[in-house]
Amino acid sequence: MTHIPGIVITGASGRMGQMLIKTVTDSDQARLVGVVERAGHDWIGQDVGTAMGGPALGVTVTDDPLEAFAQAQAVIDFTAPEATLEFAALAAQARCVHVIGTTGMTDEQIAALEPAARHAVIVRAGNMSLGVNLLVQLTKKVAAALDEDFDIEVIEGHHHHKVDAPSGTALMLGEAAAEGRGVNLADVSDRGRDGITGARQRGNIGFHAIRGGDIVGEHDVLFAAPGERIVLRHLATDRAIFARGALKAALWGQGKAPGQYDMVDVLGL
Ligand code: NAD
Repeated sequence: MTHIPGIVITGASGRMGQMLIKTVTDSDQARLVGVVERAGHDWIGQDVGTAMGGPALGVTVTDDPLEAFAQAQAVIDFTAPEATLEFAALAAQARCVHVIGTTGMTDEQIAALEPAARHAVIVRAGNMSLGVNLLVQLTKKVAAALDEDFDIEVIEGHHHHKVDAPSGTALMLGEAAAEGRGVNLADVSDRGRDGITGARQRGNIGFHAIRGGDIVGEHDVLFAAPGERIVLRHLATDRAIFARGALKAALWGQGKAPGQYDMVDVLGL
């Protein structure tokens, strides 16, 4: 019996799914023991390495998540909100660490993770990269140091396939800015202005989403005051940063008490 944790990747054929499969198979700290795709997908029943256009990896793509999770110590899940909710219940049943990278979940969907977190470790973050999580901490500090003379705007850019806006990362940054200022984001959030909106309201936190081409993920937090501006910026150029963070979270979660955690816990920031 090996002590190297077995990992299942859900959403195997997705942009992040394929990157995660590569990251886990390249790692000597984890084993790929299962890959899941939605029922009816072309890849079901195929070896995942072959399906990805490379050498066989000896792991067959399945549409039966529970069967896959039963073989594993962790599930890394970058799929879609409804799928992630289903996987949370099944991962808890199998006592697997569930690493959730899926974004666009509503408050109700996030609250619905709670029963699963009573039985298993869930690590969820809208962004799994070290750089962005550091940027979140910096945003909180800068927002706490400045008064409302500084207007805060979060500007993000992603590839044209992205389905949710603002990005999960933009929301993390907005939450951090609000926390630094000691306000509730819901009370000051100003999303996507259009038309005769009136002058900007003092204290609001604005969000703007750019969608185009193959942008992996770009985030600016702008603090603009009369006479000066501060811009905190993170540019992701390779999805591997999210996959490495997710694998780190899956390994970190082994042996931890059930509950909900985020990357700030994992990275000890
Ligand atoms: P994608 O559309 O390329 O991939 C999603 C995959 O999930 C697809 O292969 C789809 O078939 C699969 N899927 C959907 N429902 C499923 C189900 N019920 N069972 C099994 N598989 C299912 O998208 P992507 O670019 O890989 O992004 C996926 C998610 O990850 C998005 O929510 C995105 O915003 C998020 N994301 C998060 C981070 C982070 O660091 N947290 C980074 C990048 C992307």
